[in-house]
Amino acid sequence: MASTTTINPATGEKIAEYNRLSVNEVKDKIAQSRKAYESWKQKAYEERAQLMHKLADVLDENKEEYAQLATREMGKTIGQSRKEIEKCALVCRYYADNSKGLLADKIVKTEATKSYVTFQPIGVVLAVMPWNFPFYQAIRFAAPALMVGNTGVLKHASNVQGCAFALEEAFTKAGFPEGAFTNLNIDSKLVKDVIEDKNIVAVTLTGSDPAGRSVASIAGQNLKKTVMELGGSDAYIILDDVDMEEATDLATFGRLQNNGQTCIAAKRFVVLDAIYAEFLALFTKKMKAAKMGEPTAEDSYYGPMARKDLRDELHEQVLKTIAQGGRLVLGGEIPDTNGAYYPATILADLEPGMEGFDNELFGPVASVIRAKDDAHAIELANNSQFGLGSGVFTGNNERGERLARQLEAGSSFVNKLVVSDPRLPFGGVKNSGYGRELAVYGIREFVNTKTIWIK
Ligand code: NDP
Repeated sequence: MASTTTINPATGEKIAEYNRLSVNEVKDKIAQSRKAYESWKQKAYEERAQLMHKLADVLDENKEEYAQLATREMGKTIGQSRKEIEKCALVCRYYADNSKGLLADKIVKTEATKSYVTFQPIGVVLAVMPWNFPFYQAIRFAAPALMVGNTGVLKHASNVQGCAFALEEAFTKAGFPEGAFTNLNIDSKLVKDVIEDKNIVAVTLTGSDPAGRSVASIAGQNLKKTVMELGGSDAYIILDDVDMEEATDLATFGRLQNNGQTCIAAKRFVVLDAIYAEFLALFTKKMKAAKMGEPTAEDSYYGPMARKDLRDELHEQVLKTIAQGGRLVLGGEIPDTNGAYYPATILADLEPGMEGFDNELFGPVASVIRAKDDAHAIELANNSQFGLGSGVFTGNNERGERLARQLEAGSSFVNKLVVSDPRLPFGGVKNSGYGRELAVYGIREFVNTKTIWIK
């Protein structure tokens, strides 16, 4: 029987093996989810909210166990894993408390006696999710989807299958009915069959550009709606009036958090000429001082990457950028350990056409780019196939806001690193995908936005 093996990226050691589902077992689980939908959609918001609050409690109560599991499977530092579980609980509570209002009928004045828009559930939604926030990415989908009255099936990344089962168990512990949230441990080749299953009505995917294109095209063939959260190469513009200590602290954390593997990480730093040398020197000092170490050690600033193959791909990108004329300022060498470690690395003087400028570097590698002035900085920041997050660091909020509005991205933050916040929409433009998660926009992606007209 085919199986999924999980490996600790800090040591290279095997953690566990999970039997994969057969094609028939997958069909049965989807049918079970559809059956669960029939009664789940009838429940009052209050009843769903009660269970969603219970799920938040289960996450809180089991925080340490889930955090250790995430760290073991994908290598993020234990402190950041704990924060991830806390954020999951926060999102569950946000949707438990707000869904009823976010989905309330909207009266629209027309010639009718009464006309309005109502938001109704649609069925079983498939979520294809990545490993980088193994709990949060799945909850960000599931909390709003289930509050609407839909049910969900999860195809999680293979390397975090333990987290996927732990999530399924958390829903059960919270008292959700069987089939409300189901983990499908399958090879990604089977995703096509899942999408084509008549009981699946829509698909959401967070992951890479190739996975997104493949899933979106299969869903398109089957006329099933998709939301795509794909990669990013977020640009942060550093202006000449900036508080340099604060900007370099944020830049260091922004690039190294989650071991450099965050879709909305600060990846390209577009720095004005007047402060370029000063920024680079201080940023290099701080990146160098950040401690790479065992992800379970409380004092590690960052740990290994999630998989060796991803680390090796990143190193190839670094070498390619250097060969194209990029200047290696820090790091750039694979350490001699069993784990998938890669050191904090800085590539400077990057220009369009170089690998580190054009493509996403999904690991602890920063691209530093020189800009003549504000307009040139915007031009460079927007010269990207991606448009997920972006930012401006400046001593002048008005100047920052002016630039933020010109950045081609799903979000632009001034003097703060981009974060996903349940009260605000999250998503991208260009090759970073389409559709939105979170807030009112996220919860209305997978609904039937239905018109009712009474003469
Ligand atoms: P992948 O896209 O390979 O994996 C993500 C998920 O998709 C996994 O569950 C994977 O399963 C599945 N998958 C992969 N290929 C296919 C396919 N052809 N058909 C169906 N499912 C598929 O991502 P990586 O592991 O390479 O992760 C890193 C990438 O994800 C980066 O580019 C990053 O920016 C992006 N990402 C974007 C985020 C966002 O919110 N926009 C957040 C996190 C990551 P399996 O593991 O079994 O292969």
